[in-house]
Amino acid sequence: MLEKLKKLGREITDLLFPISCLICGKPNVYLCTPCSAKLPRQKQQCLSCQKPSAFGKTHANCLTKNTLDGFITSLPYSHPDIKKLIQVFKFDLVDSLAETLGNIMADEIERQGLQDYFQEFVLLPVPLHPRRLNWRGFNQAELLAQKISQRFSTIIDQSLLRIKNTKPQADLDRESRKTNIAGAFALAKEIAGKKFLLVDDVATTGATLSEIAKLLKSAHASEVWAITVAHG
Ligand SMILES: [Zn+2]
Ligand SMILES: [Zn+2]
Repeated sequence: MLEKLKKLGREITDLLFPISCLICGKPNVYLCTPCSAKLPRQKQQCLSCQKPSAFGKTHANCLTKNTLDGFITSLPYSHPDIKKLIQVFKFDLVDSLAETLGNIMADEIERQGLQDYFQEFVLLPVPLHPRRLNWRGFNQAELLAQKISQRFSTIIDQSLLRIKNTKPQADLDRESRKTNIAGAFALAKEIAGKKFLLVDDVATTGATLSEIAKLLKSAHASEVWAITVAHG
């Protein structure tokens, strides 16, 4: 019932505020194809040292048993148009933007030539705390994972739980982000030997992704990568 009401609410919002490209104003789409093609792309880098790296693979000397093995991203978050797109998706709860953003992520996987490599992986959307999920009505990371799953037929895994309702990371500095997110996640089942591709909308310092990587590695995941729409 609540879900239906929320959906109705979103449909009414769409009627009152007709959809248009967030960049050029063209009707009926949130991001038109020409504007999407013109967006600047993020160069792949090692999330640990933020220096360039082929396919976003973590440099051998940056890798510890707690870090991500690699990180893929598409767009620079510092660009005003990109920030606007993500914020409308995340804070204005526009779930229909997931299609556009999920396709941008899937395109990046293909551009890096990693679609075959990730066939052995399961997708793991960064979970929201149940209370936050209830308030938002959808998990933006889950919607993005669904789009990637549709493109590459990869399975979405649900082993990760969010057990701590943390403060929004965006309000905190680098050090506080680490403390805030520490111990926020737990595993619902045995994951030893599995390969994971974490999915989220934005990575800034990478504190959330690193916290999850640490948990998965300590439970003997064999490989952990992450993908986000934007970084910065
Ligand atoms: Zn446009
Ligand atoms: Zn590095």
